[in-house]
Formats: sequence, C-alpha cells, structure tokens
Amino acid sequence: MIGAVARPAVGRLVAAVAALALVTAPWWIGDDHLLRQLSAVAILALVVSGLNLSLGFGGEMALGQAAMYAAGAYTGAYLAANVTDDLLVCVVVASGVAVVLGTITGLPALRIGGWSLAVTSFFLVILIPDIVDLLREQLGGYDGMTVGLPTMFGSELDVAGTYLVVAVTALLWFVTFRNIVRSPWGVSLLSMRRSPVLAASLGLSPFRLKLTAYLLGALPAGAAGALSASVNGFVAPSEFGLELVVGLLAASIIGGPATVVGAVVGAFLLEFAHEQSARFESWATIGYGTLLLAGGVLLTRGGGGVVGLVRAWIRRHADSGTVRRSDAAAARQHEVLELSGSTIRIAGMRKTFGGTTALDGVDLELAAGRVTALIGPNGSGKTTALNLISGLSAPYDGDVIFDGRSVRGQSAMAIARRGVGRTFQTPAIPSILTVREVLESGELRRSRPPLAATILRTPGYRRRRAELTAEVDRVSRLLGLDHLLHATAEELPAGTRRLVELGRALLGRPSVLLLDEVASGLDEEELVDLKDVVGWLSSCGATTVLVEHNFAFVNEVADVVYVLAEGRVVAGGTPQEISSHPEVIEKYLGRGAMGIEQEAAP
Ligand code: ADP
Ligand code: MG
Repeated sequence: MIGAVARPAVGRLVAAVAALALVTAPWWIGDDHLLRQLSAVAILALVVSGLNLSLGFGGEMALGQAAMYAAGAYTGAYLAANVTDDLLVCVVVASGVAVVLGTITGLPALRIGGWSLAVTSFFLVILIPDIVDLLREQLGGYDGMTVGLPTMFGSELDVAGTYLVVAVTALLWFVTFRNIVRSPWGVSLLSMRRSPVLAASLGLSPFRLKLTAYLLGALPAGAAGALSASVNGFVAPSEFGLELVVGLLAASIIGGPATVVGAVVGAFLLEFAHEQSARFESWATIGYGTLLLAGGVLLTRGGGGVVGLVRAWIRRHADSGTVRRSDAAAARQHEVLELSGSTIRIAGMRKTFGGTTALDGVDLELAAGRVTALIGPNGSGKTTALNLISGLSAPYDGDVIFDGRSVRGQSAMAIARRGVGRTFQTPAIPSILTVREVLESGELRRSRPPLAATILRTPGYRRRRAELTAEVDRVSRLLGLDHLLHATAEELPAGTRRLVELGRALLGRPSVLLLDEVASGLDEEELVDLKDVVGWLSSCGATTVLVEHNFAFVNEVADVVYVLAEGRVVAGGTPQEISSHPEVIEKYLGRGAMGIEQEAAP
C-alpha cells in the first residue's frame, strides 16, 4: 500500500526535476550542437505525443500527423518571411492551422469510420510536395525555403533562446497532455479504443471522442512544425515524406502509444536512430526494421510500449487479484446504494440477422427491485435481448418501454444515459487501466468535467474528482475490490474482472442492470459471493436482468425466470414454477441443467 500511495508523488518529483533540468539546460550545456539536438527531440516528442493521443488513446491510425506537422512548418516559415518573425505568434498560428486542417480531414473521415482516416490522412502526406510546388512562389517549391532567425517580443533569439521557447512549449503541452489523459477524458478515450460498443454503453459518443483526440493531437504537431522551421532555419517538402510517417509511427508504438512519457522515449529513439543512420548508412534499414518488429510485439501489450514494460516490471509483485469476499459481504449487510429501478416492458420483440431469426416475438416484463433471469441454450437470443434493451442492436420490430415510455429508435448512448448499465458476456475491460480507472469510467454517463477545467485542474474539477474517488472507494469496498484499486484490471483473474465490470456499471447508479453471463467461469466460492451480490443489488432497488444458462444458479437468485429457445419464450414464472416443470428445462436446456437441485432430489 505504501508503494501505491508513494508512486504518484515519486512520479511528480521525477517530472519536476526533469522539467527543471530541461529549462535550465542552456546554463549547464554550453554546446550549441547539443542544444539543437535537444530541441529536435522535444519537437519530435510534440509530434509523437499528438499521434499518441489519436492512435494510442483514440485508436485511429492518424497517419496525417506528418501533414499537420508540415502545415505547421510551412505556416511558420511563411509568417516569418512575410508577416512576423515572432516565434510565439508563429507557433500559435501554426497550431491553429493544423487544427483547421485536422477538422477538414478528420470530420468526414471519422464520420465514415473504418480505415478512412488512415487513408485520407495518408493521401494528405503524399500530396505535400505537390501542394508546396503549386505554391512555389510563397513556399519555395521542391527546393525548400530558408527561415531567418526568430524573434520574440522584438528581440532576436539565439540558439539558447530558441531552445528555451521549444522547451517551454513542450513542457506546457506535456502538462496539458498529461492532464487530459489522466482524467475522465483519458479513461473515456481508452474505453472507446477498447470497443465502441463499450463506449456507447457508458453513454459516450465514439465519434466525438475520436474527433476530440485527433484535433487535440493536431495542436502539438502544428506547434512543432513552426518550431522546427525556426530551429533548422529551413523547410523542404522532402522532410515530410514517407520516412517521417513511418518514423513517427515507430516512435509512438515503441515508446508506448497509450502513454504520456512514451512520446518522449519514442522521440529520443527516433532522433538517435536518425543520427546513427547517417553514420552506419547500410545498417540503418535493418536496425529500423528490428525496432519496428520489437515495437509490434510491445504494442500487443495494450499500447504500453517500452513505458508499459517498465511499469509492468515495477508492478510485478502486485496482489494476486482475489476479491476480499467476507469483508465485502459484511459491508453489504448494512449498506445499500440507492438505485431507482425502472419498469421495463418488452412487447413483440423481433430481430433478424440476415437469414437468422435471433428473436421471434418476445414479450417480457422486468420489474424494479427484482431479479429477472433469461435462461436458455446457446444461440437462443439472450444476448440479443439485452442488446435490444440497451439500444446496441437497432433496428428491430416491437417495442421497449421504460416506465411507460418507448425508447425505440434511441441510440445506445442515449439509453445508457437514461440509466441502463450492463456487463458483457466477454468482459470489456480497456487495457492498461487500473481497477480504479475502470470503475470511474462507469460514472461517465452521469457527467464528465469540461475539457478546459480538466486541463487547468480547476477547483471545480478537483472537487468532482474527490467525490468520484470517494464513490469508487465505496463501491469497491462493497464488492471487495478495495485492495485492488491500483492493479491493472485486465490482468486480474476472470472472476475478479466480472466483478470489476459490475462495479463499473454500479458507478453509473443504474436503474437497470443487464448482466450477461456474469456467473460463467466462476468457481464455487465466487458463485456463492455472486449470489449474495445479486441479491443485494435488487434490495438496492435496481431492475436486474440476469442472462444465464445455469438453472441451478438462477433458481437461487431470480425472482422471475423466462426460458428462451430459438428466439421465443417457452416458459416464464417464478423459479419454483419453472422447476416444477423439469421437462421444460430438460427439453430446452438438456439433461443435468437442473444442476444440484435435481441430483439432491430422491
Ligand atoms: P445467446 O446469447 O442466447 O447465446 P445470441 O443472442 O447471442 O444468443 O444469438 C442468437 C442468434 O442470433 C444466434 O443464432 C446468433 O448466431 C445470432 N446472432 C447474434 N448476433 C448476431 C450478429 N451480430 N450477426 C449475426 N447473427 C447474430
Ligand atoms: Mg449470449
């Protein structure tokens, strides 16, 4: 525990010392060449960090990062030659131009989805030389254009002065970047990257999140462009070719696309590789290829890259991840979460996928404060029913009525915001998030602090975070997860991950809880605990829907059971009523489905 508490403080101290060293570098590094190299690393780190935002956090192959960088460089060079050589003005305007370019390319491409952003932004990169050549008069064509020494507030900047502007810009951006990703925004992005379906079920809009990440990523790219024009004193289209695209991608992936520090690590490696390739010409390609391969392997670890590996190594003695069951059960005895249940009526629900009829005229009544179980063999339509209720599988025939009002035609995001929380048959846990962060993501559908407040860490933001922390502490205690809050959620045992998902749904204070096969893969002890949790949920007032194929489990926790087969409800009633017709169970669920009850019978 001490380690867990001390780590953020140590991290902050290291960051502060590094920042101080960076800003004071001109006083302890006399060598201009070294300062230029440091500038180059900082500039690359800016570009790579933008890519990390859109690729690592937003999950979009944003190859156009190189084009935004180019746009920034040419904007800076043009302004310096024709308007003002004030570096600050150039940097600000260049960032703006990059964001405009990002909007023009990102808006339509992200709407279409799939690979279209990767493709359109890649074309943008290929077009750079032609565009520059077209604007030969203004931008110098293929031969490039020289950029004079920059000024700031009227006085000329020497190498050290320019370096300082670069270092301060990079520092400001990295604080901004960190504040964005270490917040509900970062959690939203990583949840969306894990799965758009998960994002929608948390009440988030994948499109808006992706666009935000892409445009935020354009900011440092544009700034870096203007800075590089001034530092190098020269801009040419050849700098922004395929090699840069691949290099940036490699830097992002190897450093760790879903991290903040990874951008710096990646930029450092990229700059180093660039230096070395000049010295060992023939080995450069092989070295590069090896690095990319290594990066590919590292990427499979959820976007952590080198940084993720180091973190995993630091954490290797973490807790085994079992739940503290008895403490939690005791806590649940005298504590309830106030959940206002909804009454849901499903009428004539029919859903087909191509030729398959998944649901064929299903009527269900789901009552508040009750556990309703849907049981049936594989493929009987249970998950489809949950998907229709949560709006994930529109369009369909029939109607879903929440407290007397139809939600037909509403998006999954809108339905999630009405108070529908769910878990997935295969747990959807975003990689590299801690249990605390995964739990926090459940609250997103209720509110998310504005971006500006998040970046500036305003008092309002801090207050909300403190409330959220307390809420997460409470729910995790009630589920026995409180000692695991710092663990990486996806690395926990299966049964624990299911509880984490349930906890995430609870953080949204759902009125309806849809649990898809929460009991599958659990051992005996975990099952006993889950029965207690489910019973407690309905006593909290939630409308709980339990999808299962294990009748023995359902028999003990459900108030009402519907048996589904081939998309139809073949039986419905209390568990006692259903079990008094063992032939129904046997016919549809097979021999032995009655589980322990049947074996215990004389
Ligand atoms: P269950 O959860 O009861 O095992 P499902 O609701 O997942 O069953 O599936 C019901 C039927 O619908 C199955 O035949 C399945 O193959 C089909 N189905 C479900 N989802 C899809 C989909 N997205 N595309 C095509 N067929 C689907
Ligand atoms: Mg299913």
